[in-house]
Amino acid sequence: MSLSEVAHLSQLQLGKFEVSFDEIKKQREYVSFAKTVLESRFGGETPLAFVHTFGCQGNVSDSERMKGWLSQMGYGFTEVIEQADLVLYNTCAVREHAHDRVYGNVGALKPIKEKKPGMIIALCGCMMQQEHVWQKIRKSYPYVNLVFGTHALHRLPELMYKVLCGGKRVFEVENCDGYIAEGIPVRRDGSFKGWLPIMYGCNNFCSYCVVPYVRGRERSRSSLAVLAEAKELIASGCKDITLLGQNVNSYNRDGGDLNFAQLLEAINNIEGDFRIRFMTSHPKDCTFELLDTMARCEKVSKHLHLPFQSGNNRVLKEMNRGYTREKYLSLVEYAKKVMPDISLTSDIIVGFPGETYEEFRDTVSLIEEVEFTSLFTFIYSPREGTKAASMPDPVSRKEKGEWFRELTLAQEKIAAERCKKMLGQTYRVLCEDYADGRLSGRTDGSVMIDFDGDESRVGEFVNVKVTSCRNWTLSGEII
Ligand code: SF4
Repeated sequence: MSLSEVAHLSQLQLGKFEVSFDEIKKQREYVSFAKTVLESRFGGETPLAFVHTFGCQGNVSDSERMKGWLSQMGYGFTEVIEQADLVLYNTCAVREHAHDRVYGNVGALKPIKEKKPGMIIALCGCMMQQEHVWQKIRKSYPYVNLVFGTHALHRLPELMYKVLCGGKRVFEVENCDGYIAEGIPVRRDGSFKGWLPIMYGCNNFCSYCVVPYVRGRERSRSSLAVLAEAKELIASGCKDITLLGQNVNSYNRDGGDLNFAQLLEAINNIEGDFRIRFMTSHPKDCTFELLDTMARCEKVSKHLHLPFQSGNNRVLKEMNRGYTREKYLSLVEYAKKVMPDISLTSDIIVGFPGETYEEFRDTVSLIEEVEFTSLFTFIYSPREGTKAASMPDPVSRKEKGEWFRELTLAQEKIAAERCKKMLGQTYRVLCEDYADGRLSGRTDGSVMIDFDGDESRVGEFVNVKVTSCRNWTLSGEII
């Protein structure tokens, strides 16, 4: 979005979360200042940045915006860390091993920085929004130059300028409800698949989840901004747009011209050959209106990722999820009625504190009833500062591991049956990857298929007939 469009948008609807036009203008000035410093420091050579993203698609999308800023400052990009003049890790706080990986990666930078003292090391994202984390970085990793939280992304040019000029460590970890910043340049990772954030933050406070603490309150981008970005993506050849938000179903819940179903329809009505996906949906806010809209809109993928987390009502209540097993199943029933070919996927937590084996079995029975295409299953791990982290948790990790395997086996059986039913059918597939003479891509329902084909077709839609299935993996041929 251009500066004049931001100015126009700001005048039209500067919401309480919106970063002002003047602030974005100021950041653009910092871009020029930083660029001048970098030009004189590198004598006209292009400084290189290594940007690595941990975690979810929301983080990937944030990184694309930060790469947009860096690119405007004059940075090029490298995949080789030793070549980098700037290393930026965009971190994730959702899972414990993500924390460990970040600390491990930052530790591994120490000898590299010793050899290359001018290298700037910057850490950002959800983990850096947690006080115990940035305090640890401040104390134990003195070679880290810049730390900033999720709410300071739009101020990256200013923060980089401070680091470049001041030579001091910069920590910017304001704890607030969050912002919406329009007018940040985007450097996209892919040409035919695009992430499109429609909202940020979360108000749900599920008892196991750290997101509301690190991503701030729920806030929706204006439909004007979302539609403008969707049009930009489509005009640039994007074929697969994924709308992003922690809880897309509550888009504009606090007011605004379009609700989520209406936004989906408005994007569907943009001319062009493309597919629309969205994530993540919360069952609490999923409506029949949304399911009807999905059914009606030909460009909206008939795939619904609707995390149920547990099939047991007591556990759901302890998780503070705000729906029951029955409500979830009624949504599934309606979705299947209006979209008989719908593909359903979900997230599940196994071994929530206090969960019994009998309660866990309710989760297994739910997946058997729904027949999901695939599942993202996790063994519960406590996140510091959440309510669940202080709940009694008597079941051992070993026992939870056995439950996990039981669930995985049940799902593999379901997925294999579903795949068998796809044999001989033809699906429209977007060619996404190529290796050794084989293309691969996802169907509308997000099922991966591989097939013979030429690399030049990557980014194209093709019709693929499924010719074989091994357990839950599909192969086919272009027809
Ligand atoms: S809906 Fe629940 S699980 Fe999802 S981000 Fe919000 S608090 Fe976390």
